[in-house]
Amino acid sequence: MSAQQLETDYLIIGSGAVGMAFADVLLTETDANIIIVDKHHKPGGHWNDAYSFVTLHQPSSFYGVSSRELSNGTVDQVGLNKGLAELASGAEVMSYFDQVMKHTFLPSGRVKYFPMCEYQGHGQFSSILSGKTYQVTVNKKTIDGTYFKTSVPSTHTPSFEIAEGVEFGPLNDLPDLLEPRDGYVIVGGGKTGIDAALWLLDNQIEPDQITWIMPRDGWWIDRKNTQPSREFFMDTMGAQATQAEAVADAENVDDLFKRLEKGGVLMRLDPNIKPQMFHGATVSRDELSQLRRIKNVIRKGRVTRIDTDKIHFGDDSIATTNNTNHIDCSARAVPVTETYDVFQGDKVVVQTVRSYQPVFSAGFIAHIEANYDDEAIKNELCKVVPLPNHDTDWLVGTAAQMRNQMRWSQEPGLRDWLLSNRLDGFTNLVQANEDNTPEQQEVLMRLKTAAPKAGANLPKLMAEVMQIMAARQANS
Ligand SMILES: Cc1cc2nc3c(=O)[nH]c(=O)nc-3n(C[C@H](O)[C@H](O)[C@H](O)COP(=O)(O)OP(=O)(O)OC[C@H]3O[C@@H](n4cnc5c(N)ncnc54)[C@H](O)[C@@H]3O)c2cc1C
Repeated sequence: MSAQQLETDYLIIGSGAVGMAFADVLLTETDANIIIVDKHHKPGGHWNDAYSFVTLHQPSSFYGVSSRELSNGTVDQVGLNKGLAELASGAEVMSYFDQVMKHTFLPSGRVKYFPMCEYQGHGQFSSILSGKTYQVTVNKKTIDGTYFKTSVPSTHTPSFEIAEGVEFGPLNDLPDLLEPRDGYVIVGGGKTGIDAALWLLDNQIEPDQITWIMPRDGWWIDRKNTQPSREFFMDTMGAQATQAEAVADAENVDDLFKRLEKGGVLMRLDPNIKPQMFHGATVSRDELSQLRRIKNVIRKGRVTRIDTDKIHFGDDSIATTNNTNHIDCSARAVPVTETYDVFQGDKVVVQTVRSYQPVFSAGFIAHIEANYDDEAIKNELCKVVPLPNHDTDWLVGTAAQMRNQMRWSQEPGLRDWLLSNRLDGFTNLVQANEDNTPEQQEVLMRLKTAAPKAGANLPKLMAEVMQIMAARQANS
């Protein structure tokens, strides 16, 4: 069967949040036509595979695509997110992307969407169901919207052995349980582990029935500081100022994290355990209080095998039973570490240009693609902020983000674009505003004063981070 020939300006691989946010800006800011290819049958990427109780971790108001609001503007009145901006559920996120595709992209007449199709490279893709192949002539660029390789428990393969007879499955299976178990073992200390723990506690499971296997503790972001609306100005901008002051004044990396925690920028499960991980997981203070009710936290490293009576960690082990539910939360949501130039000739590899803000980054990179010609300048404006993994990556990301913010502030026109883009939750708040109260002005002044001092102290702190990382590598 010969390949069907297609022609387009842009070929976008992936209709996840990143591919969608990129396409949306191209549609708004250019007259280009676009082909979007994805293995999934609906836009939304990993949200297709998510557990039924998943929600966004950060407010809906700056997630999705630039041209369409996702949030209703409501503040939660009940639950552990009470008092904070709403978090869309997985179903809402899926419905939202479906609407973007059906009501904006396809009616434009400039987008052709090929779901259930796998891209093989070199402009070629094929239908997973029919096997039909397509060859695309790309007049402008191919956009790689798959860089993050987002991994979720329902689609990943655990890195340890599971003996026959062990009840083990992704957290997607939890709502299907029909009778009590001896206990519940959560494998994984990241955001999905947090979600599983909160779900169990919310469904009448006592904390002492839960065992939480946590190979590394993480630093967590306080969700109150990620609220982009003016009513949370003092929290959000206060945290930015505290963060800049912490970087400015820290004697060393340990001291930096002490200051960040004391100032409420970062939080941890156990004040006696020093976190070694930072993935940008975001929780509310009420969620943190709930999670701290769980006392049986196992810190023995990674699971190597689960038997019906034991969970092994290399030579060490803990007891379990064959009537215990073992919940897989061990997928690392974003497992990539390598970074690349964003603009590479006829290819764009969409990565983060602002810390853990993939959709804002996709929209921003699309804006740069649509409005600049010189590839060197484009890459300079889109320097990658690496995805965090270790605790010290908080500083690596902050330094890279500060550099980008500084560069963008010198670029005519960019400020207006940032101010008007809904995926940028924060530029609006940083601007001097005549409605600001004296307290708000004072916070902005703190930020303005600390920022250059933070820049001056960064090289010293970064040098220590490099030493810490080298020592960890040598010991691993
Ligand atoms: C539970 C959870 C909650 C999160 N909450 C937030 C949040 O609140 N705020 C936030 O900013 N971020 C959040 N994130 C981070 C999240 O990773 C990003 O927001 C975003 O969804 C990533 O989108 P993506 O398009 O990069 O990846 P994906 O969603 O994985 O999409 C990539 C797509 O590419 C397709 N694809 C890959 N290879 C091919 C191929 N060869 N051919 C065809 N198609 C291909 C895949 O099928 C997939 O649909 C969350 C992540 C998780 C797991």
